[in-house]
Amino acid sequence: MASTTRRDFLKTGAAVGTIAASTPAIAKSSGQSAIVVGAGIFGLWSAFQLQASGYAVTLIDAWGPGNERSSSGGESRIIRATYGPKRTYFDMVLRAMKLWKMYEKEWGTTIFHPCGMLWFTSPNDSYEQAALPMLREAEVQFEVRNATDSATRWPQINFEGVSWTIYEPDAGYLDARTACAAIFAAFRKNGGKFVKAFAKPGQVRSGAMDGIVLSSGSVLKADAYVFACGPWLGQTFDFLKPIIRATRQEVYFFGTPEGMRSFDDTEFPVWIDNGEHIYYGMPASNSKGFKIANDVRGPVIDPTSEPRTITEAELKGARDYLELRFPQLADAPLLESRVCQYEAAPRDRFIIDRHPEASNAWIAGGGSGHGFKHSPVVGEIVRDAVSGIKQPPEDMSLSLALETYKSFNKT
Ligand SMILES: Cc1cc2nc3c(=O)[nH]c(=O)nc-3n(C[C@H](O)[C@H](O)[C@H](O)COP(=O)(O)OP(=O)(O)OC[C@H]3O[C@@H](n4cnc5c(N)ncnc54)[C@H](O)[C@@H]3O)c2cc1C
Repeated sequence: MASTTRRDFLKTGAAVGTIAASTPAIAKSSGQSAIVVGAGIFGLWSAFQLQASGYAVTLIDAWGPGNERSSSGGESRIIRATYGPKRTYFDMVLRAMKLWKMYEKEWGTTIFHPCGMLWFTSPNDSYEQAALPMLREAEVQFEVRNATDSATRWPQINFEGVSWTIYEPDAGYLDARTACAAIFAAFRKNGGKFVKAFAKPGQVRSGAMDGIVLSSGSVLKADAYVFACGPWLGQTFDFLKPIIRATRQEVYFFGTPEGMRSFDDTEFPVWIDNGEHIYYGMPASNSKGFKIANDVRGPVIDPTSEPRTITEAELKGARDYLELRFPQLADAPLLESRVCQYEAAPRDRFIIDRHPEASNAWIAGGGSGHGFKHSPVVGEIVRDAVSGIKQPPEDMSLSLALETYKSFNKT
């Protein structure tokens, strides 16, 4: 696969900082058609971008856009620029931030809540140290504080075990449900077709896929096929089975005491603890409580049949953490919980690449617990790959994912 330089990558669609003021009007039909299987956030943006470049697009999902089983379901997702040494994802998120803001304005809805992001760093801080030069170089606003100064700035937090913090005032969270609904509405408004069905890849003959087989038995055909099946990708293609695993993740929403505003998104940032405890969370908003989740990969599950019931042991872990880090919330009532799954890929790298045997089929997945924020750019990468404009970044190739998987599993 040809390599993609950083400059090329930043230029995906339009150069960072010079994004078109409004959505490109739906291009004149290219006469080409595409089917996107999966209406999670990767599939939605892929469908939207392909459509905007002139493809007649059919989107298929077994349970609907951003459904509750999907990895894109639920309320909120963190968006931040601190990405350790990961240049590809750092460049991507800078562009994604601009695209989210541009499209929410265009669609007249609020998706991006810039309440700030606070990152807790442990004594082992090589990841965070690697992030700082990139933040500086790109002129991302950020503040670094030691634990004492952090405690003065956020007296709601107990910084025990935290060495120093990074605060990004322009980061925040995205409304996941609103985002999925808004992209889907725009796609439909622009003439996109939606089919609610379980779909399987057709046969590969002479180097091309011959269609998509729906649960009804009918077959849909197009010039190009994109499989954005999230945690189901390992069930969709045997070659992805070992490298995309659906891992079980629990999420909790706790109620803040009446009259207390200091944990609301007007006064409190989203936060990530990258120390001894790998937890993250969001402030309370008008509609939701204080969110907290364990970022450690849980057991592998089947995303279709897994019961979405939390476990006592995981809840206790979250409560213990809440008591340690946010003592005023120690007795906060649990308002709501979710069981979701990451679609974990080797080294948390996305997989956006051509099917190894079918030149007209593409894979877009492996969001690995951090994909939502990047999804507008994923849509652009898929659009450019399918239409033959540009190869996806090598960092996201199937061969690299397979190599990485094999190197982890050497005996
Ligand atoms: C608890 C949790 C917290 C997260 N937090 C963050 C965060 O803070 N920030 C961030 O950036 N990212 C976060 N992520 C990651 C992010 O949400 C995911 O990477 C992203 O949503 C993946 O989207 P997707 O479209 O690839 O998969 P999905 O959303 O799962 O979409 C796949 C879709 O394909 C459909 N489908 C699958 N197979 C078939 C088939 N055969 N036929 C028809 N339809 C099919 C499914 O119904 C589903 O709708 C988090 C994820 C989880 C689970």
